[in-house]
Amino acid sequence: MLIDMHNHTGWGSGDTHQHPSDLIERAKLWHLDGICFTEHNFVWDSEKVAMLREKHNFLVIAGAELDTPDYDHVLAFGLPGPRRWSKLPTVLELRKLADEHGGVLVRAHPFRKVSLPYVDSFVAPEVAKFLDWACAEAVYDVVDAVEAFNGLARPRETLLVNELCRRLGKRTTGGSDAHRLNEAAVCFTVFHGTIRDDHDFLEALKAGDFHGGDWESEGLPDPRY
Ligand SMILES: [Zn+2]
Ligand SMILES: [Zn+2]
Repeated sequence: MLIDMHNHTGWGSGDTHQHPSDLIERAKLWHLDGICFTEHNFVWDSEKVAMLREKHNFLVIAGAELDTPDYDHVLAFGLPGPRRWSKLPTVLELRKLADEHGGVLVRAHPFRKVSLPYVDSFVAPEVAKFLDWACAEAVYDVVDAVEAFNGLARPRETLLVNELCRRLGKRTTGGSDAHRLNEAAVCFTVFHGTIRDDHDFLEALKAGDFHGGDWESEGLPDPRY
């Protein structure tokens, strides 16, 4: 099953007016199996999630994207809503909260603010040096997985994050990070089992039965072309 694990809408994020129904319909049209709404520092009311699931007959999951002051952006799943954070948690506070609720954390787009070398080969001196540095700096024990496919990422960012996760043995996820319709359904997470609801979703994440991808990495026809 293909689930897009990172999206923003006007129902919870201040930087977009995107209606959730349009993102859901785009995900359906392009044969995804589910979509997560990960608003900035906000978890939706579960009644709204249920309403959209019913209306579209589609798997909708509410997460959040937290701007932790010490660790940058973290996707959180399994936290109860509605909730908007006024004082943002540190990553360890967020970890504690996730553990209390049986939740899961994913480091979002780890290299977005990092200056990256051009990637022609992982053994090219500049690239090898960068990866050695990134491996030494990586603090990923606090999260369950790393978002290696992000729809807003530069191609070399995707290559380098995936290679870093491979070296560290870290699970990867994918999400479009859509704020508008033309950014929707470009990255997703591939789950090998069946996911019918939040419970299945969280269990699959905890079992590690998934990996991040996009149309090209999965060898699937890109529905945009
Ligand atoms: Zn982000
Ligand atoms: Zn985001």
